Amino acid sequence: MKDPPGESKDHQLTVAIRIRPINDAEIEEGASIIAHKVDDQMVVLMDPCEDPDDVLRANRSRAKTYMFDVAFDFTATQEDVYVATTKNLIEGVISGYNATVFAYGPTGAGKTYTMLGHDSEPGIYIRTLNDLFKAIEAANEDINCTVYMSYLEIYNEMIRDLLNPASGYLDLREDAKGEIRITGITEFSTSNAKEIMQLLTKGNKQRTQEPTAANQTSSRSHAILQVTVKQKSRVKDISEEVRVGKLFMVDLAGTERASQTQNRGKRMKEGAHINRSLLALANCINALSEKGGKGAQFVNYRDSKLTRLLKDALGGNSRTVMITHISPASTNFEESRNTLIYADKAKNIKTKVKRNLLNVSYHIAQYTSIIADLRQEIDRL
Ligand code: ADP
Ligand code: MG
Repeated sequence: MKDPPGESKDHQLTVAIRIRPINDAEIEEGASIIAHKVDDQMVVLMDPCEDPDDVLRANRSRAKTYMFDVAFDFTATQEDVYVATTKNLIEGVISGYNATVFAYGPTGAGKTYTMLGHDSEPGIYIRTLNDLFKAIEAANEDINCTVYMSYLEIYNEMIRDLLNPASGYLDLREDAKGEIRITGITEFSTSNAKEIMQLLTKGNKQRTQEPTAANQTSSRSHAILQVTVKQKSRVKDISEEVRVGKLFMVDLAGTERASQTQNRGKRMKEGAHINRSLLALANCINALSEKGGKGAQFVNYRDSKLTRLLKDALGGNSRTVMITHISPASTNFEESRNTLIYADKAKNIKTKVKRNLLNVSYHIAQYTSIIADLRQEIDRL
C-alpha cells in the first residue's frame, strides 16, 4: 500500500466548468450563444442585449471572463470531462482518502448527463467505478479489498434510498467513532458495469422531480452515489492497517432561483430547502477557503443534511472536485451568471489531506485482554 503522490500536501479544490451544446428548444426560442470557452481554463459570458447596435458598442464591457482549473465546451466528450476531473481521485480513494465530486448548476444545464449519462455516453459514475475496479484488480494480491455502494437522495432535508424508495425516510446518525451512517440504506456490491448502470438509471428515475415554470421537470433533490472502499492486508504482520476511502459523487439539485421559477407554496418550500443546503455547502467551502484549511473546526456542517453527510469528504480529510454546468444560451443568461459567480467563490478552498487508518493493533489488544479475562473466569470455574 504505497502512499499516493501529494501525501500531506495542501489540497486545492478543483473547480471545472462545462458549457453544454445549445439545444433545439433554445434555438427555436431565438437564443444566441453567449457562453464560450476561451482557452483550457477560461470562459467568457456575454451579457445579451436587446439592441444590436448597443451590443456592438458595449460588447467589451458586457463580456465577463471567469477562470477555472479546467474548462469544457460542447466539443468535450464524457471521457475528456472524466479524465480531467475525477480519474485522478481514484488512486487516493484506494489509498484511504475521501473525495467528493459535485455536479453543480441550474436544471437543464447538464449535471445528470455528466454524472450518469446514457448507455452509449456513460458519465462519471460508471467511468470512475470501472477504473476503480481495474485498479483494485491490478493491486497487490496480498490486499483484501471490498467496495460497496449506496445511491440516495436528499429532498427537503429528508433522505431516501433511491434503490429502495419503499423504505421511506432514513436517519442520518453519527456513530461512536464519529462516522456518519445512514440507517437502513441499501448497500450493493458488484463490479458488473452493466448492472451498476441499470441500478443507477432505475434509481435516477426515482428521484423527486417536479414541474416548475422554468422547466418541465426539474430535479428538486440532491442525488448521491456513495462508494466505500475498504482494504486490509491479508498478510499478517506486514501491515496492521485497514484503509477506508469514501467517494461521494453528487448530482446536486438545480440551483435556479425561486423568483425565476415562479415557485409558490410547495415549490417555494423545496426551493428554500435546496437553497439551505447549497448555502450550507457554500458556507463550508467559504469557511474552509478563508481559513486556508486551518479553520475547518469552525465550519458548520450541521446546517444541512448534505453537509452533514459530506462532512468527512469536505473537511480535513478530502479531495474535492466541483463541476459547474451552464447552458450557452442567451435565454439563460441570469442563471449562468449566478452559477459562475458561485463557482468563482468556491475556488480557493485548501484543506489538509490526511488518510483514514483504523488501528487494528489497538482492536487486537482489546480482544486479547478480553480473552485473557474470560480465560481467568474459566480457570476459576
Ligand atoms: P440537469 O441534470 O442539469 O438538469 P441534464 O443532464 O438532464 O440537465 O441535461 C438536460 C438535457 O441536455 C438532457 O437531454 C441531456 O441529455 C442534454 N445534455 C446535457 N449536457 C449535454 C452534453 N454535454 N452533450 C449533449 N447533450 C447534453
Ligand atoms: Mg438532472
